[in-house]
Amino acid sequence: MSFLPEIQQIEQRISILGSAMRSEVLAYSETSGAGGELRFPIYKLSFGSTDPQAPVLGFVGGVHGLERIGAQVSVALLNSFSELVLWDKNLQRTLQDIRVFFIPTVNPIGIYRKTRSNPRGIDLMRNAPVDADDPPRFLGGHRYTNKLPWYRGEFGAPMEVEAQAMIRGVQDEIRESKLAITVDSHSGFGLQDRLWFPYAKTLKPFPDLGLLYSFKQLLDRTYPHHFYRIEPQAGTYTTHGDLWDYIYDHHQSPEMGQHKNYLPLCLEMGSWMWLKKNPWQIFKPEGPFNPLIGHRHKRTLRRHNTLMEFLIRAVSSPDEWAELNAAKTLELESKAMELWYAKS
Ligand SMILES: [Zn+2]
Repeated sequence: MSFLPEIQQIEQRISILGSAMRSEVLAYSETSGAGGELRFPIYKLSFGSTDPQAPVLGFVGGVHGLERIGAQVSVALLNSFSELVLWDKNLQRTLQDIRVFFIPTVNPIGIYRKTRSNPRGIDLMRNAPVDADDPPRFLGGHRYTNKLPWYRGEFGAPMEVEAQAMIRGVQDEIRESKLAITVDSHSGFGLQDRLWFPYAKTLKPFPDLGLLYSFKQLLDRTYPHHFYRIEPQAGTYTTHGDLWDYIYDHHQSPEMGQHKNYLPLCLEMGSWMWLKKNPWQIFKPEGPFNPLIGHRHKRTLRRHNTLMEFLIRAVSSPDEWAELNAAKTLELESKAMELWYAKS
């Protein structure tokens, strides 16, 4: 039977933690064909408050299988978090008021086979029914053939099993939450770690800009030497079918009731740093997307611990930064417009 070390680690956590968390198989990712049959569960682990309105923090990884480091970082965060849950009284108290969840391996067959897409050749981050303004040809998502990367799937077809599993897994956690932050880990772009916020589909400003700017100020004030570049995802290029655009818009749609504070972030790890230090790895399929040398890999796995700690604290203390009156929101929005959208 085929196995994935990332899934083995998740299953170990489930057996160690017992009733200290809730686990769910959101779906199975399956394929059969020339390479034999493959079937992997897509797990979600959830900790803390079951109050639907409680603030929520979520970590997602492995959407693009080839960017394996995204799944590995999510599992590493899960491992540390799970240990803390067992002994850290502060965290145990915090979890009475907030909920934290992990979906570390959204596209397990992609991870196993080192492919960006799912087993049907569909790029999950191009698969949502969302059309972009002026995306680059191919790269921004296309419907020509699954033989090329960035394939969106057929027009009008239901979303892929893995995409649906992730969307439902996230929505079940955040639906009625007063404040939610999710972090989806990717790699493959730039010399610096970025925190991208929506939209991917358009250069038009993200509706929760005031909240986002307040979040940035909090991070900058608390950790002035942090290394994250916070910017709108579409600043690089626009894409069709982004799952976070879809989740965000659905979450804020009128049928979902009143507006709720939600920041869907993507951690885009600056993989060119790894390439710069070890140019030869570009000749391996996973080379452009992952730290391949032992010490660099380890360093990457521990690199985002402070971010996780910061996010737990930010989500559990929303009155400091997320409960904004109209005047404050306007002031923050104008600063954000100046910083991120002045050119357009
Ligand atoms: Zn990616």
